[in-house]
Amino acid sequence: MKKYILFFIFYLFLFSIYINNNISYIDDNFIYPTTYTQISSYYGNRILYGNYNFHNGIDFLAPEGSEILATNSGYVEYASFLENGYGNTIIISHNSNLKSLYCHTSENYIVKVGDFVNKGDIIGFVGPKYLSNGNLNGNTTGPHLHFSIFKDNTTIDPFSILKK
Ligand SMILES: [Zn+2]
Repeated sequence: MKKYILFFIFYLFLFSIYINNNISYIDDNFIYPTTYTQISSYYGNRILYGNYNFHNGIDFLAPEGSEILATNSGYVEYASFLENGYGNTIIISHNSNLKSLYCHTSENYIVKVGDFVNKGDIIGFVGPKYLSNGNLNGNTTGPHLHFSIFKDNTTIDPFSILKK
């Protein structure tokens, strides 16, 4: 009898590992991160200031102060200034290999690292070109929302998963 109990406990242990590795809060419908659907720059190569440059996300023409929505559910992984042209940035981790990034946001973060957000929740606001300390809010020529999707830490075209 004791043998069966131990066997059962071992089975539960294996099952819990299986569940933990397959946990996912997302569904297949990734939504637009803003209600402003006009796009000023697509994913891919573009010419910026006369040079070829790879744009790793989509730019939505959204005015300063407009709401930024979580494209899908997940945990906030980053909510702070980020170097390399991003400026104020929010990153949401959706599962073990998918993340979404929203940048040039305002300084009044309404989410913090570790928060769980549901798809469609307001996570922040489009920020100004210049921050209160006078620095540029990343590589930006004016208020807009830059949105990237990372799959296994490499960007993919967000339109490959965004719900049309
Ligand atoms: Zn951009």
